[in-house]
Amino acid sequence: MRPPIRSSEAVCHEFVIFVRDIRYHYQWITRNVATPYSSISMAVFVTPSASWELAGATTRDPEQVLDSLLEGNHRFARDRMLRPNTDAQRRLELVAEQRPHTLVLSCADSRVPPELIFDQGLGDLFVVRSAGHVLDDGTLASIEFGVSQLRIPLLMVLGHTACGAAEASVMSLRSGQDLPGHLKRLVERLRPAYEEALLKPGDLVENTIVAHVRQVARAIRENPVVAEAVEAGRLAVVAARYDMATGRVELL
Ligand SMILES: [Zn+2]
Repeated sequence: MRPPIRSSEAVCHEFVIFVRDIRYHYQWITRNVATPYSSISMAVFVTPSASWELAGATTRDPEQVLDSLLEGNHRFARDRMLRPNTDAQRRLELVAEQRPHTLVLSCADSRVPPELIFDQGLGDLFVVRSAGHVLDDGTLASIEFGVSQLRIPLLMVLGHTACGAAEASVMSLRSGQDLPGHLKRLVERLRPAYEEALLKPGDLVENTIVAHVRQVARAIRENPVVAEAVEAGRLAVVAARYDMATGRVELL
């Protein structure tokens, strides 16, 4: 596990979260409860742009970016999303350039949209998706672009529970029955994880998913472009799994 951050910057960050919580409750009250105090001025908490930006990562430090991302997921799981960086002003700011803080390689599953489950907005995430988040020339080129050209400080490989691609691959490998078309290649990409999972107790599909996420993260770390950025200290690569039932993302 990552060591806890205990710097003055971290304390400041905790204060920001505290302010955000107060703002959330204030907004909920003003929207849902008619009170004689609803016109109380709390502009410091509700001024749109400046305060919304607090929800997004404003640092390029990999560890702090990860903290910010996991906070966003925590908001999502608690049904307390802030939906930062989604207004017209943000859209216009991004016309000139993008500077995403996290590259997410995730499954194409419609139930796992990274911007939503991390409560992020426009220009925050550089998302590369494929069924079963498998690596091929296209996904690797996209990752290399994000790392070398956009200099993204955090790269997350994100698997998820109840992954249909993993389920179908496990069924195919167990039965020996090939899937049609290009799906055969997908199955082959998952074979190493399946074989690793066979050696472990517990649910074969879920174990295959975890093994696959870790293997993909390992393969990405071995990519020369990624390895160079990691060695320079400007990139961290993490593996994680999204639990569809709880909404929580856990690091693996
Ligand atoms: Zn999936």
